[in-house]
Amino acid sequence: MARRYGLVIDLERCIGCNACFIACKVENGLDLGSGIRVETVGGPYRDTPSGKHPHLSMHYLPVPCMHCGEPPCVDACPVEALYKRKDRIVLVDEDKCDGCQACIPACPYDVLIYNSEKEIVQKCTLCAHRVDQGLEPFCVICCETEAIFFGDVGDPTSRVSQLVADRGAATIKPEAATKPAIYYCPTKRGFIEEVSVLRASE
Ligand code: SF4
Repeated sequence: MARRYGLVIDLERCIGCNACFIACKVENGLDLGSGIRVETVGGPYRDTPSGKHPHLSMHYLPVPCMHCGEPPCVDACPVEALYKRKDRIVLVDEDKCDGCQACIPACPYDVLIYNSEKEIVQKCTLCAHRVDQGLEPFCVICCETEAIFFGDVGDPTSRVSQLVADRGAATIKPEAATKPAIYYCPTKRGFIEEVSVLRASE
């Protein structure tokens, strides 16, 4: 059976340290705005809670490319620069990309970023170059709280699939119907419904 690589991100363990954010830029030579980002789900600004004392709530939400099973970005690209590999990792062919940016509004997760210096669109690659060497994405390696797990989310016997089943993990923005390969384990307080309403970066 063909593999389907993805991530399971445990929101209970994520402390918003941004190690994954930095690891992504270092490993892939990306602009600060591109690759995985970490959002605050809470108040109107980063690291602020919603609610009033003593009823406050806040958690963090790492947002990489969702490596969608049905990626609208691929359909939106007029030069076929965006494509899905056999293992379902979605990539930008930087040699084909002409910088038209037609893909950017097509992505429901706001993860496609135009690099004005290179005049191309870039995004999280799930570190495909590392995966091809049998290694895990660099964000997984660098997460100090071990909140990010990589594996074959299409194999029900894999560690990541078992984690999804055991923790009731879910994808975000299900209404977009893109079949993401990135799953989120809810916090103990069960914030997964709140997470399903993804906000733009502050
Ligand atoms: Fe494409 Fe956006 Fe889905 Fe990534 S998250 S595969 S960029 S539609």
